[in-house]
Amino acid sequence: MEIRKVGVLGCGLMGSGIAQVAAAAGCTVVVREVSQDLLDKGFKGIDRSLGKFVEKGKMSTEEKDAVMGRLSGATTDEPLADCDIIIEVIVENLAVKRETFARLDAICKPETIFATNTSSLSVTEMMTSTSAGRQRRFIGTHFFNPVPLMKLVEVIRTILTDPEVFEAAVAFGEKLGKVTVRTSDRTGFIVNRLLVPYLLDAIRALEEGVGSIVDIDNAMKLGCGHPMGPLTLLDFVGLDTTYYIANIMFDEFREKRFASPPLLKRMVLAGLYGRKNGRGFYDYSDPANPAPMSLL
Ligand code: NAD
Repeated sequence: MEIRKVGVLGCGLMGSGIAQVAAAAGCTVVVREVSQDLLDKGFKGIDRSLGKFVEKGKMSTEEKDAVMGRLSGATTDEPLADCDIIIEVIVENLAVKRETFARLDAICKPETIFATNTSSLSVTEMMTSTSAGRQRRFIGTHFFNPVPLMKLVEVIRTILTDPEVFEAAVAFGEKLGKVTVRTSDRTGFIVNRLLVPYLLDAIRALEEGVGSIVDIDNAMKLGCGHPMGPLTLLDFVGLDTTYYIANIMFDEFREKRFASPPLLKRMVLAGLYGRKNGRGFYDYSDPANPAPMSLL
C-alpha cells in the first residue's frame, strides 16, 4: 500500500510545510484551499522555504523546480478524489473538520486514507463523520512546526484503524524523512501529554515567585540542556493556543496537571499571545533582544 499521490487540505502554516515535504519526497501533491489567493500565498511560502535549502547548498535549483512541479493547487474537492492519502490541515474546529471529511468521503476512492493533523481534537470524533469502510482507514498524522525542519511525526490510530493502514502511514512518515512515533487517540498524544503539564508548571513557578522569567528559562536551558526555556517556548507556541489545548486536555482527563494557571488565563484575556502578536512573557518590540515583561 504505497502512498504516491497526496492531498493536503489547507495551505496555511502547517499545510504548506506538509505539502512541501511530501513533494520533496517524490509524491504528487494536490493542495486544496478555500481561495486562489490563499493558495498563491501558501505556494509563495513553499517557494521561499525551498529557496533557503538552495541557498544553503542542500538542494539544487533543478531539484527545487522539480519539487514545485509536483505540487498543484485546487479550490474544489474533485482533484482530491484519487489521492492515496488526504491530510487535513485546516482550522482546529471539530464541526468544520467533520463536515469536510464527510464531504470528501462521498467522492474519494474507497482506498484513500484519511488523516488529520489535529493537535488536540479527538481523531475518533472526526472519524465518525465518515462511512464504516473509511473509519478503518482513518488516522492522525501530527506534524510539528516548522514542518520542513522538525523531524517528528506522531502517527495516531483509533480503536478501529486497520493495522495495515497504520503501518502504511508510518512508512509514509518515514518516506518524508521524519522519525515516526506510534501512539493512540488520547488527547495530546505523546508530546503534548508530557509538554503541556511542564509548560503550565513553569507558569505556576513564576506565579509562586520561585524565580523570575529569565531565571526560570535559564534554569531549564542551562540546567537541563533544553534549546530554550519553557516561557520562551510558550511565547513561540502561542499562549492562546496553549490555553485552548490545556482546557481540552483538562476536560478529557480531569487532572490538576492540565489545569490552566490563573496567570495564563489573565495573559490571554489581556491579548498577550506571545511572539505572534509581539508580547507574551517577553516583549518583542526589539526582536533580537526580547525583554521580560513585568506581569506580577
Ligand atoms: P493556519 O490557520 O495557518 O492554516 C489553516 C488553513 O486552512 C488556512 O489557510 C485556511 O484558509 C485553510 N482552510 C480552512 N478551512 C478549509 C477548508 N474547508 N478546506 C481547505 N482549506 C481550509 O493553521 P495551522 O497552524 O496550519 O493549523 C492547521 C492544523 O494543524 C490545526 O488543526 C492545528 O491544530 C494543527 N497543528 C498546528 C500546529 C502549529 O504549530 N501551528 C502544530 C501541529 C498541528
